[in-house]
Amino acid sequence: MARIVMKFGGTSVGDIDRIRNVARRVKREVDAGHEVAVVVSAMSGVTNQLVGYCEALSPLYDAREYDAVVATGEQVTTGLLSIALQAVGVNARSFAGWQIPVRTDDAHGKARIDSIEGADLVLRMGRGEVPVVAGFQGVGPDDRVTTLGRGGSDTSAVALAAALRADRCDIYTDVDGVYTTDPRIVAKARKLNKITYEEMLELASVGAKVLQTRSVELAMKEKVRVQVLSSFADVPGTMVVDEDEIVEKAMVAGIAYARDEAKITLRRVPDRPGIAASVFVPLAEANINVDMIVQNISADGTTDLTFTVNRTDLPRVNAVLEEKAAAIGYAEVLTDSDVSKISIVGVGMRSHTGVASTMFRTLSERGINIQVISTSEIKVSVLVAAEYTELAVRALHTAYGLDAV
Ligand code: ASP
Ligand code: MG
Repeated sequence: MARIVMKFGGTSVGDIDRIRNVARRVKREVDAGHEVAVVVSAMSGVTNQLVGYCEALSPLYDAREYDAVVATGEQVTTGLLSIALQAVGVNARSFAGWQIPVRTDDAHGKARIDSIEGADLVLRMGRGEVPVVAGFQGVGPDDRVTTLGRGGSDTSAVALAAALRADRCDIYTDVDGVYTTDPRIVAKARKLNKITYEEMLELASVGAKVLQTRSVELAMKEKVRVQVLSSFADVPGTMVVDEDEIVEKAMVAGIAYARDEAKITLRRVPDRPGIAASVFVPLAEANINVDMIVQNISADGTTDLTFTVNRTDLPRVNAVLEEKAAAIGYAEVLTDSDVSKISIVGVGMRSHTGVASTMFRTLSERGINIQVISTSEIKVSVLVAAEYTELAVRALHTAYGLDAV
């Protein structure tokens, strides 16, 4: 007998038939003798619609009221799934975040979980009851409803699994696992049986959309065994595990791409101490996440500084740069949104040489120009023109021997 947290994403609970299907899956685990807690997302499309309502009324909406609105999506699903479970004879009960409670900080719209009170749920599960918990939401220090940021119900599920000391957190979604790359653009992409936390974390942060980045961070920290699997097919998924559990460490485990990058170049900034701070401190203060950065040297006392941000932040970046123009002292700002970031990720990189050079050679053989490079211990990312995204990913997938045979 195991204790399992089962999490179902928006498409898995997208309509009444799918909610019935989820109820059958939950019942199967209960009938097998497991203790089960369920975490649900809003039905697909609902959160977008709710966010749209807020934006339509006021672009500068009050974040507390935004949370009051968007948290309702998950609440609907908890009630519906509980009804569906009761209809098939499972003793289910819905819980909103505040009823557990899931305590968060006060950062409305992007709150972080501080603690989850699990004792009552454990008692209920011991009696054969199935708690159906609303993902994505909690309650702040002011006793008001908070939400965790888009995609946050993955994090709810992992946090609940940690609080309940669950043996496993099964994340049911519309894909049947984590692939070596996006199967929609590489037909020969392979499903991975296992991937390490670190690889998953890097892949999630560079654009693979399977799991919310923060949920992987939390799973790694709390050592929660996470499985990604399909709610529509009956096949084993991908286990996210500790590195020790993987014997043959892949040089490159996966390739991800992100099309939502924008590149900014500041031409001819003075090459003197404090110049990077004069650019990046104001950007950080404006809550803008800067990703890749390169700076060139030049002979005449000025230099070009290039960096990337999320494309949706570009208007705010331009506003900050304009405001700080005198303090920074650049000659010109160039922006380019037609770029993609391609990343290769693998823990085996630590012990192999030549991984990055294979990437550069492969891209050059296809005539693809690399605009910016950044690396971490287990990742190499390059920025290329957006039109080469598919070509680059396919070529790299072949070059690293990842193609399915
Ligand atoms: N419903 C929320 C969203 O769409 C949370 C989630 O699905 O994880 O972002
Ligand atoms: Mg999701």
